[in-house]
This record gives sequence, C-alpha cells and structure tokens, in this order.
Amino acid sequence: MKIEERLVKQLNKTIKESSDQEIYDALLTIVQEMAKEKEYEEGKKKIYYISAEFLIGKLLSNNMINLGIYDEVKNILKKEGKDICKIEELEQEPSLGNGGLGRLAACFLDSIATLGYTGAGIGLNYHLGLFKQKFENKLQKETKNPWIEEKSWLTKTDVCYPVQFRGLKLQARKYEIAVTGYDNRTNKLNLFDVDSVDENIVEDGISFDKKDIARNLTLFLYPDDSDEEGRKLRIYQQYFMVSAGAQMILDECTAKGSNLYDLADYAVIQINDTHPTMVIPELIRLLMERGLQMDDAIEVVKKTCAYTNHTILAEALEKWPMHYLKEVVPQLVPIIEVLDDKVRRKFADESVAIIDRNDVVHMAHIDIHYGFSVNGVAALHTEILKNSELNNFYRLYPEKFNNKTNGITFRRWLLHCNPELADAVTGWIGDGYKKDAMELTKLETLLEDSQVLSRLLEIKQDNKLALKNYLEETQGLQINENSIFDIQIKRLHEYKRQQMNALYVIYKYLEIKKGKIPKTPITVIFGAKAAPAYTIAKDIIHMILCLQEIIDKDPDVKPYLNVVMVENYNVTLAEKLIPACDISEQISLASKEASGTGNMKFMLNGAVTLGTEDGANVEIHELVGDDNIYIFGASSDEVIAHYEKGDYVAWDYYNNNPVIHEIVDFITGAKMMEVGCEENLNRLKQELAGKDWFMTFLDFEDYAAKKEQVFEDYTDRKAWAKKMLVNISKAGFFSSDRTIEEYNRDIWKLC
Ligand SMILES: *Cc1c(COP(=O)(O)O)cnc(C)c1O
Repeated sequence: MKIEERLVKQLNKTIKESSDQEIYDALLTIVQEMAKEKEYEEGKKKIYYISAEFLIGKLLSNNMINLGIYDEVKNILKKEGKDICKIEELEQEPSLGNGGLGRLAACFLDSIATLGYTGAGIGLNYHLGLFKQKFENKLQKETKNPWIEEKSWLTKTDVCYPVQFRGLKLQARKYEIAVTGYDNRTNKLNLFDVDSVDENIVEDGISFDKKDIARNLTLFLYPDDSDEEGRKLRIYQQYFMVSAGAQMILDECTAKGSNLYDLADYAVIQINDTHPTMVIPELIRLLMERGLQMDDAIEVVKKTCAYTNHTILAEALEKWPMHYLKEVVPQLVPIIEVLDDKVRRKFADESVAIIDRNDVVHMAHIDIHYGFSVNGVAALHTEILKNSELNNFYRLYPEKFNNKTNGITFRRWLLHCNPELADAVTGWIGDGYKKDAMELTKLETLLEDSQVLSRLLEIKQDNKLALKNYLEETQGLQINENSIFDIQIKRLHEYKRQQMNALYVIYKYLEIKKGKIPKTPITVIFGAKAAPAYTIAKDIIHMILCLQEIIDKDPDVKPYLNVVMVENYNVTLAEKLIPACDISEQISLASKEASGTGNMKFMLNGAVTLGTEDGANVEIHELVGDDNIYIFGASSDEVIAHYEKGDYVAWDYYNNNPVIHEIVDFITGAKMMEVGCEENLNRLKQELAGKDWFMTFLDFEDYAAKKEQVFEDYTDRKAWAKKMLVNISKAGFFSSDRTIEEYNRDIWKLC
C-alpha cells in the first residue's frame, strides 16, 4: 500500500481534517510497522552493546529517513497544508542519556543496523531520565523530565527476568525500541524496567526517597550520588541492568544452540564505560548456576566481554566500597574476591589489584583483567591510556589495547539536521556519500568553484536565521543572524573549560567598553547542563547568565557582542544549533577530553574548529591541515608534565598577568554583584584564582589571541567558505559506520 493510503487508513479521515497530533500518532504506528518488517535474526554471533545511557534523540524523522519515506511523507503532508517540522515538534525527546557517551551508544546502534550487523543495545528505561534544566534567578534548577507518553516508541514485552538483591527480589521487564538502519535491517534497543516504579514518590524538583528501591529503581539516570544512599542506588541500577541483560543474552544464545562453553561464538558484549562492569561477575555466576565450573565460566566470560574506556579523569573512574556490594549484591562478592585473588596470585603489583587495601573495588580493573579487549576512543586518548593512565595494565596485556576513534551517524547529524546542506552536497557529488561517507572527499575538487562557495555561505545563513527564529519562539532569546555564531555546547565541566570562554567574553566586553569595536558582531552561545551536585559547574552557569544579562542591558556593547545560554541543552537543540554554527569551541585542557563527538558534528556541518590539541581534535587537525582549524594552548605532554611536577600555580598568573587579574576581578566586581549572587561569584573567583585545577590561565592568552585571528579571518567570506568546505570534505572519517567497521574487524568479528 502507498504511504498516503496507509496514512489516511490509519487516520480514518483525510489528512487535512486531522490534527498534527493525530498525524504524529498515525505516523508512529506506520513507522513501527514498517520497522518491524525489517527485523530478522541472522548469523550466529550477535553484538550486545551494554550501556547505562542511550541518548537517542527524537525518533520519528530519523526513522523515516532510515526507512526511505521521509521525503515522500513530507511532500504528502505539504500538499495537504501540513508541516512535517511542526509534527516533529510534538515528539518528546527520550531522556535516556547524559552526554557524549550516551550519544555515542545511540550513533553506534544506528551504524550497526545500517551496516546490517546482528546487534542489540541493553540499558534501562528511566522514566524521568536525566533532569530537565530550568534557569531561575540565573541559577540552574533541576526538574523531572517525564518523556514516556501514551503512544511512544517503547514496546512493552512479556519477557521478564528475576533480579535478586539482598532481601529484595524484583522482576525486570523488557521494553524494546526499534533501531532502524539506513536502507537496511531493524535491530532492537532493550530497556529493562520494574513494574512497581512510582513517579509519585518524586517530591519537589528531583528529590525522592532513595531507599524505596522497588519504587525508585528506574526513575532517574545518575541519581545524585553525593550521599551513601544515592551511591547504593546506582549499584542497584547497575546490577538490575546487567543481571537482566546477562540472562537475556544467555537465553538467546542457548536458543540458538550454544552449549554455553561456546558462548563467545554466539555473543560479544561491549561494555560501554564502567557502569555495566558487574556483567562480568554476574555472567560468571549465571554460568555456574547453569552448570559450569567456575574456572570454565571465567574463561568463557573472558572471551566474550570487551571494554571501552571513556575517561582519564581519575575521579570519574568508578570504585565501589566492598561493603556497598555486600549490602546490595552479596552474591557477587565471593566471585569478585576470586577474580581479585587470581590477579594477585599472578601479578605482584598492588596497583592492578581489583580489591584494594581499603576494601574498595576498582571496576575498570575487572574489565581490563577479565575482558579480551580494552579500547580508547581517539588516537591521543588511547596513547595516554597506554603510556600513563593504564600503563601498568598495558605492560601486562599489550595485545588487549586498541584504539577506536569515535564517530557520529551522518543520518542524524547531516541528512536529518541539515537537509539543505545534504541536498546541496548531493547536487555537487551525487548521493554515494550517504552510504560511503568517504565520498565527501569529492568536494575537494570544488574548492575553487565560487558558486559552490557562495551557496555554502547561503546555506549557513539560512540555518542561522532558522536558529534565531527557533530560539525566539521556544526560549524567548534574541540573537542577530548577521553576527558570527560562536558556539560551545556540551556538558558543563571544568575540564571542558566553559569558564575560559566566559572569561574571554569578559575580556571582549571590556575591550568594547574601551572603544575597540569588532568588525563583525559576535554571538557567543552556550548550552550545558551541570551535574546537580557539582557546585563549581553551577557557579560557571551562573557567571554566564550574569554576563548575558549585563551585556543585554548595555547599549554600548550589545550591538557588537551577545551572550546567550540556551536552557536544557539536548539532542533536539543540538540539531538546531550545529548547522548554524560558524565557530566550534573545543577548548578542553589537552589530555582531558577523551575524544569528543560534538567536534565531529560541527565539522560535518561546515563550522571551523577553535580548539586545543586534545581528543579527536588532533585527528581533525591532521585531516584538515593547519589552515582550516585554529589550534592553541599547551600540548597534552606539557599538561601531563605540569600535573606530575605540580608546578602550575594559578595564583601566580592572577598576580602577575594584568589582563587575567582584571577579568578575574570582574567576576566579583560591582556589575556582576548587581545582577548575581555574591556567594556563587565569590566561590568561583576563589576557585579560579586559588586553584584552577584545569589550567584555564595557562592557555588564556593564546586562546584570546587565536580568537582574534578567527574573527579577522571570518571577514574574508570566500576564504572562510573554503575552510568550511575543506572541513565538510574531510569529515567522512568521522562517520560512525567507519568506527563500527573497525570494532567489528578488530573486536567483534561478526560475520
Ligand atoms: C554530541 C552530543 C554531546 C557530546 O558533545 P561533546 O562536545 O563531544 O562533549 C553531548 N550532548 C549532546 C546532546 C550531543 O548531541
């Protein structure tokens, strides 16, 4: 049946007579049916991608693109006076992820299906997800983010697995979300949940009774872990996810004929960061329950599990006190003790032990000893793991370590979010790039084509205008579409250094006050959520919102410089912001950003990177060359040396550098105090001048100088357009299809 007939049949009236909501509901049903037709199990071996987060974004348009019906549906609706964009707006964005790690998991599921591999995601069905961010009195407030509606992409199943905690047994029910591949098969994202979860226990904001596990287990992603109850709740969640997931994996493999000794021929489990680490002892436990000897079970698991490391920040590597595990999952304790004992017998080195002298369990150590692969997520990151952070492990298992530079799905981050650019590219080089992203290099032949270059600028301008209108309608923000859009959007963290960008805003503000007017007006856009218990991160948001207000009220400055912070940064907003960006801010302290994927999305959409030599910026730099990226700041080697010697002293910069002194003092000056909170601003200034753990001042001058250069270069529009085109043409390497092919070639080895 034709789509139009199908739609009318589903609606049971004409399209014209139907409301946008009715059309949305009808499309949801049709897309789900079409996706289902492409579901099949094939091949013996399956990849299970297990992750605490899947930041999947809205699904309607993406699924329609992948099923090849987007344009047709858009045109049918248009003919009847309906706007597909308005219908897209009705969908709630699933709130199942936090940042880059969760978005990576989502891109990977898309690529696994697109490449036709048998695979599935395993995660949790958080009802209220990550919090929704609101700004009140220029401070971040967290509220719940309910996203599951009457009609949603979630399908409830009858499949349940028992999960045993100390003194509490819960049933894990499996829900599914279809994952459509681009012109290929459909896979599944399996999300586990408890029937007894109760949204009514949430009080004001996002607080709730952390002890009422049966009712709170799948309410929130990353519940506040600043107290012991919160930390234990995270263990409950993690075990619930891995126990249900492991049972599902064993059932599926047994059904396909595995005798469990040969599990690795049927399953490979990719552990996304340390949150799912307990899948290792849990699988061992379950295999023993199903008749294997412990040593055999351990050998089977060692051949089945692979680990991806996402961070070198010591504070982000999970460690759980043994007594928490005893209180929540006592059945795993003897297994973890055996795993530790085996390691200690083999290696005399205390630093690689699983249970340390303080009776704390190091989750990453379990993954490295009992997985067969350890990968970093960008070339530099993997080198740092091998040479410093995990060097003691690398020396034991050099063969396990490998790099898999992250990627992004071009379906969402080009075809969906920037159709105008995608159409233009298709016009220039054909549409082969949609399946083989490396074909984008064909654009290089057009670098001297002035029609192409002016079209590129025109598309950017259209996207800037669209963003201006969107922010005005949805957030009441006003920006000038004829200014330079300088954008930093990512989770708020001191290592990502939003504070450095904000200090630059102060610097520029003061320059303009002194009469140094920029040639082109500048709009600095921030978007970032701060973890609810991360005080300094919230203070940085406060600083930015204060600057926004000060500049907004200052007629001397406002025509030339604007700052806006968008509320509740998420995938939906990213899809609007990225196509409109001129300058992509990727300014983490070198060595601290494992890869970044925002950097890749921006590049693909023709933004030019201003960044440090960190994460995948290094690889972007290599690809586009010195002339098409702006690199500044200390190298990762220099930074690592500063940490080793402990010779970075923020206070010296503050005292000896008059520019830094002036802008840091501004934070607590009269203008800021007039609009902001004394406590927050004082604390932030203290933190910067007295500590500055992520070395903002070390790179500040270099950053400010580079930024002046960028603004200057921007005025030569044709030269700038060439930079844009070079960036797009080199972005093919960052397709997650490439990343997944590498995972498969080196780790998963699916047929
Ligand atoms: C891509 C993405 C991220 C990751 O951004 P980084 O700049 O790599 O940290 C975070 N959040 C959302 C919504 C994203 O789309």
